[in-house]
Amino acid sequence: MASVNRRRKAISIPKGFWPERSKRSGAGGSNGGIDLRLRMARFPWLKTVEQFDFECQPSLDRKVMRELAGLSCVERAENVVLLGPPGVGKTHLAIALGIKAVDAGSAVLFLTLETLMSRLIRARQENRLERMLQQLTYPRLLILDELGYLPLSREEASLFFRLLVRRYERGSLIVTSNKGFADWGEVFNDQVLATAILDRLLHHATTLNIKGESYRLREKRKAGLLGRRSVTAAEEVTPDVSI
Ligand code: ADP
Ligand code: MG
Repeated sequence: MASVNRRRKAISIPKGFWPERSKRSGAGGSNGGIDLRLRMARFPWLKTVEQFDFECQPSLDRKVMRELAGLSCVERAENVVLLGPPGVGKTHLAIALGIKAVDAGSAVLFLTLETLMSRLIRARQENRLERMLQQLTYPRLLILDELGYLPLSREEASLFFRLLVRRYERGSLIVTSNKGFADWGEVFNDQVLATAILDRLLHHATTLNIKGESYRLREKRKAGLLGRRSVTAAEEVTPDVSI
């Protein structure tokens, strides 16, 4: 995986984003550092559970999602794995759960696998891997988005494993992936390591396997923008515009 360091623009928090909380703290009152926590989480965009249309995603068990949104998984340092093809809402749900955790007072950090790897590799090169692993153990919830889009080198896979060992039973992970577990050997370039990773990750975890059509394509089709032409994979993975 290429080690690229892309700086992301800070998100802007829409007015009235925390209606319940602002009611509690009163007009002009402090909102308990929640906005700061939200910024520190480094979400690429903001989407909530309430904005997720469960009707068009029948493969997703609402009851399980409701339970996850209750955050007992974060309290118990359990993991969540969201699997499915591009566009089915994996990142949306990961962010939405992250926002719930921020609201509940937890430190959250969102990273794409690509960013995580470039940070770990650079830290190792600069002899500060220990400190970086320590930093990545701090957030109560760490969201790792897009595992599987790019295969990892052996070195990256072993760094990923080290991070997992550090966080094991200490903090929650949400991992999203377009690859089923059977393909993780390929993703991590090593079957034995992939098995060890899956073993730690899934020991205390909820896996949601989202099937079905990409939401973006569905929207385009509904708007009549999609003829009978089939859409290329490149179009399918077009990232959302950051806010
Ligand atoms: P994935 O991470 O699985 O590729 P995303 O979470 O990026 O998919 O979803 C793509 C876009 O479609 C996002 O803007 C997301 O908010 C929206 N989206 C996906 N599924 C739903 C849904 N069921 N209800 C509302 N919006 C959705
Ligand atoms: Mg995604």
